Amino acid sequence: MSASVIADLRSDTVTRPTPAMREAMAQAVVGDDVYGEDPTVNELQAEVARLTGHEAGLFMPSGSMTNQVGIAVHTRRGEEVVCAEGSHIYEWELGMMAAFSGVVPRFVPAPLGVPAPQDVRAAVRHSVHQSPTGLISLENTHNKAGGTVIPLEVLAQIRAVADDEGLPLHLDGARVFNAAAALGVPLSAITRHFHTVSVCLSKGLGAPVGSVLVGSATLMKEAHRYRKMLGGGMRQAGILAAAGLVALRDGPGWLADDHRRARTLAEALVGAGYDVNLAAVQTNIIYATIPDAAARSAAWAERGVLANALGPDSVRFVLHHQIGDDALDGAIRVLTA
Ligand SMILES: *Cc1c(COP(=O)(O)O)cnc(C)c1O
Repeated sequence: MSASVIADLRSDTVTRPTPAMREAMAQAVVGDDVYGEDPTVNELQAEVARLTGHEAGLFMPSGSMTNQVGIAVHTRRGEEVVCAEGSHIYEWELGMMAAFSGVVPRFVPAPLGVPAPQDVRAAVRHSVHQSPTGLISLENTHNKAGGTVIPLEVLAQIRAVADDEGLPLHLDGARVFNAAAALGVPLSAITRHFHTVSVCLSKGLGAPVGSVLVGSATLMKEAHRYRKMLGGGMRQAGILAAAGLVALRDGPGWLADDHRRARTLAEALVGAGYDVNLAAVQTNIIYATIPDAAARSAAWAERGVLANALGPDSVRFVLHHQIGDDALDGAIRVLTA
C-alpha cells in the first residue's frame, strides 16, 4: 500500500478510538472483573442490559466469544442450531460451535438475510432419529446478506415459533444498533424478542474492543463460566469498558449518516456500471459485483481506497463514522474512475 489512505472501507472494525474514548480509558476506575469487582465493567454490562431490556450482561473481548458463549449456554452436545444461511456464527467463527459446544448448524434459506418463520419451524427437529434442535439463532443486521434488517413482525413470528417449540432464541446482534437505526426504533424493540443477544461495541459504535452478551441473570452466571473457559476473564477490563460506555453514548448517533453514505456510494457504483443489489443496501454495508475483484481492489488500494475482495467478482464496502462526506467523495472519485 503506497498511497496515503483516503478511505478504509474494509470494515467498520477499522476505526480508531475517539479522543473522548481515550480520555475515558485514561480516567477509568477499575477492579478485578473476574471477581466481578470492576465498577466500569459492571456499569457497561448494566447499561447494555438496560438498553436491550434484559436482566444482565457480560463483557467479553469479541463478538465471536459472545456468540459462542451464547450458543454454549443454550445447547447440549449433538444438537443442532437452526440459523439463517450465511450466518456469522458458522461461516466466520471457525467451526467453534462444533469445537466448543459440540453442535452443528442447520441453515434455513434467508433471502436478504430474513428467514421465513415457516422455514424456521420446518427446520426444527425433535425426533429420536435425528439430532434435536437446541437453539434458533438469528443475525440482525445480516452481514453476508449485505447488512440487511429483519422486520419486527418477522422477529415476533420467529419468537412465537421458538415458544411453540420450547426453544431458546439467540441474536447475533453485532450490528443490532444499525438495525435499530434503520428501523427508527429503540434497541429493545428488537432485542426483547430474544433470550440472549450478542452486541458488538467495536463495529459501528467505534469502541476499540469488546462485545456484551445479555440475557437472564441465571444465563449470565452460566456464561461467566464459559467465558472463563475460553480465556475471556480480563481482570482490569474497565479500561476497555470505559471506551465501550462512550461508544454507547456517541456511536448510535453516527449510524444514520453511515447508512446515508452507504446508499450514496452504492448508487455511485451502479452509476459507474457495477452491479449492486440496492434492495440489500439497508444499512452500512455494500456488496458489489466487480470482475477481477482482487486485482481491482489492489489497484484501488494503490490510490488510497481500501475494500475487501470477498470472492472472484465480489467486493465488500463498509461505511463507518471515520469516513465523512469528504472522504466519501474522494473514495467515489477513485472507485468510479
Ligand atoms: C463482526 C461480527 C461478529 C463478531 O466478530 P469478532 O471479530 O469476533 O468481534 C459476529 N457477528 C457478525 C455478524 C459480525 O459481523
